[in-house]
Amino acid sequence: MAILVLGGAGYIGSHMVDRLVNEGQEKVVVVDSLVTGHRAAVHPDAVFYQGDLADQDFMRTVFKEHADIDAVIHFAAYSLVAESMADPLKYFDNNTAGMVKLLEVMHECGVRYIVFSSTAATYGIPEEIPILETTPQKPINPYGESKLMMETIMRWADQAYGIKYVPLRYFNVAGAKPDGSIGEDHGPETHLLPIVLQVAQGKREKIAIFGDDYNTPDGTNVRDYVHPFDLADAHLLAVEYLRNGNPSTAFNLGSSTGFSNLQIVEAARKVTGHPIPLEIADRRPGDPDTLIASSEKARAILGWQPKFDNIETIIQTAWAWHSSHPDGYNDR
Ligand code: UDP
Repeated sequence: MAILVLGGAGYIGSHMVDRLVNEGQEKVVVVDSLVTGHRAAVHPDAVFYQGDLADQDFMRTVFKEHADIDAVIHFAAYSLVAESMADPLKYFDNNTAGMVKLLEVMHECGVRYIVFSSTAATYGIPEEIPILETTPQKPINPYGESKLMMETIMRWADQAYGIKYVPLRYFNVAGAKPDGSIGEDHGPETHLLPIVLQVAQGKREKIAIFGDDYNTPDGTNVRDYVHPFDLADAHLLAVEYLRNGNPSTAFNLGSSTGFSNLQIVEAARKVTGHPIPLEIADRRPGDPDTLIASSEKARAILGWQPKFDNIETIIQTAWAWHSSHPDGYNDR
């Protein structure tokens, strides 16, 4: 058997590929356009193709050259909320239309399983906390909408063609491989923790916290952080779940604990020993007050047991990466 990782050169995908190669159970094939991914992030023992998953001739070649691929893990998508507000069609084209093209080729080539990165952003302003898989999905930005549409498309493709799927709805992903060899490198960086750590590195003077008048204990947004190693575990379990003949279903992936933006800065001060100055700035459009997952379903059905349940440990792993790679992969 072989497994295909789409977007395997990205932040979360590269941790997945590293894990799969180290498991040593099966051949690992990676496709990445390298538009946002990094070639150096891909484990050298994976088979690598540079290309766009919407290029059907290219994808046919990949599936033909590796006819033993039965499962796809799909990380290849654009994922910035603000960018999606400014340029929604880019998201519906790359993420949503890309999914249609991918499923057509999977159907044609008889590939039956797909595990896919969905997101807490599909819930919009959640109707309940903690968020369950049954909480209504009402996205408030094109990024979340593009992912919800991908889930919907997969539901109908399952019904018509029997392609079984598991959307994994991630909450806020943070941290890196603890040895500091792979990690998060976005250009430009927009996420809270990497920016906070850039202040600790001396690359920025201070962190701007977007809003302190939310309906939360300290007024700043509360988020639920999950480590890419724990996500990799969940993807492996989800592939096994599908290969065992189970029905398509979605799972939330978070730690079930919320941290405010101010708590993240405070924890980063402890880990780095740097004062990390901050200022309060205007709210960022599209940010719900609080996002906390219930991951009971993943624990009960997949047997998922996240190991990185301490925010300082998560930040330590991110710091190991950022301090050893001050310019990231340095390939742009
Ligand atoms: N945030 C912030 N300053 C920044 C970047 C992010 O205050 O420079 C806040 C953001 O408003 C949200 C939280 O940090 O409340 C997490 O945002 P991030 O962009 O890291 O992840 P998202 O929740 O958008 O996936």
